[in-house]
Amino acid sequence: MPKYIVTIGLEVHAQLTTQSKMFCACPVEVGAEPNTNTCPTCLGLPGALPVLNEAAIEKTILTGLMLGCSTPPVVSWDRKNYFYPDMPKNYQITQMPFPLCLGGGVPLYDMAYPKDAQKSIVNPGKVVKLTRIHLEEDVGKSTHHDKFTTLDFNRAGTPLMEIVSDPDLDSAEEVVAYLTSLRQILIYGGVSDADMEKGQMRCDVNISVRPEDHPKEKLGVKIELKNLNSISAIRRAIKYEAERQIRCLETGEKLVQSTRRWLDDEGITDEMRSKEDAHDYRYFPDPDLIPLRTEAIVERMRSQVPELPHEKRARFESDYGCSVYDASVLASDKALASYYEAAVSADAKVPAKKLANWVINDLLGLMKDSEEGISACPVKPEDLSELVAFVESGKISNNQAKEVFAEMFATGQKAAPIIKAKGFEQVSDTGALEAIVEQILAANPDKVAEVKGGNEKAMNWFTGQAMKASQGKANPKIVTEIVRKKLLE
Ligand code: ZN
Ligand code: MN
Repeated sequence: MPKYIVTIGLEVHAQLTTQSKMFCACPVEVGAEPNTNTCPTCLGLPGALPVLNEAAIEKTILTGLMLGCSTPPVVSWDRKNYFYPDMPKNYQITQMPFPLCLGGGVPLYDMAYPKDAQKSIVNPGKVVKLTRIHLEEDVGKSTHHDKFTTLDFNRAGTPLMEIVSDPDLDSAEEVVAYLTSLRQILIYGGVSDADMEKGQMRCDVNISVRPEDHPKEKLGVKIELKNLNSISAIRRAIKYEAERQIRCLETGEKLVQSTRRWLDDEGITDEMRSKEDAHDYRYFPDPDLIPLRTEAIVERMRSQVPELPHEKRARFESDYGCSVYDASVLASDKALASYYEAAVSADAKVPAKKLANWVINDLLGLMKDSEEGISACPVKPEDLSELVAFVESGKISNNQAKEVFAEMFATGQKAAPIIKAKGFEQVSDTGALEAIVEQILAANPDKVAEVKGGNEKAMNWFTGQAMKASQGKANPKIVTEIVRKKLLE
């Protein structure tokens, strides 16, 4: 039996974070009453004319700059003709021969792989090649009821960026890493919220298998899995579909180019239609939109390219002494990274590495159950920094700080009043502590003799007694020092 090679290419549609739609001034808004954000243009009424949305073009070009794409000096728009039940003009305005971005690639971050695959990454540091990125419009939304269908055109005309990869992915795990890394980058650039659960990022998967001894140029029959909308489902779907195609090849069944859907409950893919080719769509230049010169926009957007997740990660390691793991966790989420940086810059004396521990272990631990992200965190970054400063100066112990932090998280209060209310303030006043130790020494001459006779371990007993006498408020470090000094010097 020959071995088989799986090859995957992705088409990712990402909704752009613009105020208005792609070709009209209707607002882009989730959760509005059906059909309230519509006009003749996005309803596809005859005679209505499209007008380009500059912000959508800028954000697409910015995406291209972040991903190392090039932008042709002139781009244009085309009509893709099809029967669209949720777009009455029956064509989609998209870009065919002259898209906004060409080439480029998506870096696969190690931590973007599924957890169980991070220890065995086949191609570490891989950058998946992109074919192109083009800009188009979304269609409306149809909801099928028992005996009828309702249509909502609020979504019709929403700017959609389509990111098309080369057939350059080798496994379901790489696809997960691709989508997760891409999502991070889109969020970093502020171009899309890219939440798959909310349909802001949707994915079509082209997958083929071929026997190992076939040349790479001769890919197997391409089968498309349409409209996958969760990363874990995508992984299951690809695994299933690759195995199904291999089974077909082995039993001599002929594979035909086609489009399938993933039925998550049953864990199978199911054929929808045999696939039409590009020429079936009868693309032609949209006569209502003239071609666009891009050079000035590209120059303008160059200055907007943000620090990317892998660049931030490297800086956290070099400037803040974060471990590779900590830096990766922090940089994986733009809002989390900003929170951390705000905490670090609040007080230069608090070690940045310690703050990283607090953010990752304690803060994320408490945030685990919360639906909202770090932006809803009740503890301000500067308040976390202050808490850690109290630990560093010996005002409270680490364990006490954890308790204080939980309270800060629950109430949104700052550390100081909680420390006070809990009576946690450590006594670090050397004079007061010396008096306590003196008393204990005087009351226990036999134990003193024991230590002086060479049993240094008995010293711990004195420290314990002093802690008890101070009701746990003594700074144990200072008490130990005093006991040692009094007994041994
Ligand atoms: Zn409109
Ligand atoms: Mn598309």
